[in-house]
Amino acid sequence: MINLVFLGAPGSGKGTYAARISEMFHIPAISTGEILRQAMRSGSELGAEVKSYVEGGKLVPDTVMGRVLEERLGQADCAAGFILDGYPRTLAQAETLERVLKARGCAVTIAVGVEATGELLLQRLGGRRSCPECGAGYNIHTLKPAKDGICDKCGTALVIRPDDEPATIRKRLEVYREQSAPLVSWYKARGILRSVSSDAAIPDVVSRIAALIREVSGS
Ligand code: AMP
Repeated sequence: MINLVFLGAPGSGKGTYAARISEMFHIPAISTGEILRQAMRSGSELGAEVKSYVEGGKLVPDTVMGRVLEERLGQADCAAGFILDGYPRTLAQAETLERVLKARGCAVTIAVGVEATGELLLQRLGGRRSCPECGAGYNIHTLKPAKDGICDKCGTALVIRPDDEPATIRKRLEVYREQSAPLVSWYKARGILRSVSSDAAIPDVVSRIAALIREVSGS
């Protein structure tokens, strides 16, 4: 069973790698950021509750995220494993995840730490474009859609996410350094951290991650 957690700063490429690894290993990639954006688009109660945090580049409170996590991991497609992209982001969330999985008789099997320099992160975040309809992500430098400015999957015009505006990007990187970066040592201490540099072509990074997963899971 592969229960994978991606760690890495905003812009490190976690979402892109998670989507590719999901296709290769036939397990769902769960982006908590996308769950929240979807809730905001649909105008649900959860969407209203998290909007100011997400748009300000701040973390949504751990209690709210704990509910989101339990609800999503309880769905049938997670029974054979999952990939988490964007959770945990605090030590308290890592503990919640550990507890939720323990109750199901399993645990995180591998944490992939995606490393990227500050310069690369700024370039990636600045070039990022997203589909407001289906949530697919693109980049004007590294991951262009077939037709400029149009989503390959659903044909909707791509936009810059409000939290990808420069001032919010700075805030998100600061939040990452202060609250999420310590998770790397947390998983390292548990012996399940594997690190990968994202300063290479997407297929090369994906192959490297796939090799690490096979090494750890023995498949
Ligand atoms: P992402 O798409 O992963 O960059 O997430 C976008 C935004 O959603 C973040 O900047 C946070 O405001 C919120 N968010 C997503 N996942 C979490 C989480 N695990 N804990 C707290 N906030 C989160």
